[in-house]
Amino acid sequence: MLVRISLYLIFIFAFNFLNAKEVNIFTSRHYDSDIQLYKKFTKITGIDVNVISGKAKALEKRIVEEDKDSNADLVIVADVGALYSFEKKGLLQKIRSEILKKNIPNHLRNDYWFGITKRSRILFYNPDLIKSEDLVDITYEDLSKQKWKNKILVRKSDNIYNQSLVASIIENNSTKFTETWVKGLVNNMARKPRGNDRAQLLALASGEGTIAIANTYYYALMLSGKKGEDQKKAAQRIKPIFPNQKNRGTHINISGGAVLKYSKNKENAVKLLEFLTTDFAQKHIVDNTYEYSILENVEPNPIVKKMTGNIVEDVTTDISSFGKFQSKALEIMLKNGWQ
Ligand code: FE
Repeated sequence: MLVRISLYLIFIFAFNFLNAKEVNIFTSRHYDSDIQLYKKFTKITGIDVNVISGKAKALEKRIVEEDKDSNADLVIVADVGALYSFEKKGLLQKIRSEILKKNIPNHLRNDYWFGITKRSRILFYNPDLIKSEDLVDITYEDLSKQKWKNKILVRKSDNIYNQSLVASIIENNSTKFTETWVKGLVNNMARKPRGNDRAQLLALASGEGTIAIANTYYYALMLSGKKGEDQKKAAQRIKPIFPNQKNRGTHINISGGAVLKYSKNKENAVKLLEFLTTDFAQKHIVDNTYEYSILENVEPNPIVKKMTGNIVEDVTTDISSFGKFQSKALEIMLKNGWQ
């Protein structure tokens, strides 16, 4: 009898083991709201989600080192430059999914990686120091002009958002133009680059500079009050401006996901990616992280909607160029004194 029960238990264990419904995510996104979404996914599908967090480069290194033994199924990272790097190192596999194709605009995905959210790297200004009329038709390219001397706040060149922005200047102009542009921009910096995007906005509010470069969602996060009353007040003292409205539109980047070449749970990984592009998941994301949805029909959070208005998004620049020119961008930045 005891033997029979033991055999039965072994059978059940083996059965469950072989049918383990799980997916292992390696993510550089640090949001609790993402974890809530994964929990919801488990509730709906019965697929367990295991999360390994880290910086994109560290995750990439681990996946390279573990090679075929890696248990990573899905990588989710901020910035298309990071996705490009995974792709070029041959770490990803092609995915065919009608749902992803339908939900994600053409220019925000390829066969390997898929945009989950949009974010824009824009300018902010301090209205005590400059009038909005002086900024109406400003472009990223304008930031190297002499008139902005000692006025621009921006973080260090090791930041991937900055590298992608500079890469977009290369893509839309030339390497030679970008050399001169970076030189001018560095010349115009209000102080040595330091701190994160929110630090630039705080410095702007306190009058350390006239213009700051930062991603949209950091400003919205400050306005929301979730970062405290002081940061909310600081955000209320500054205003956003979306550059390049008259020509190619404002710089757009993505957070995105991709399935790894040696994924042992490919189907589950694709299911999770598809889930992240549903109306439900997108609504959850925009209301928690203040990013933009990749779905046309999901509106930004009211705070973001109010700050955005009817912007012209850059839909013509090939965003994989942000990855392609990333090391070139960094080289130019360092060569020209962007610390
Ligand atoms: Fe960020």
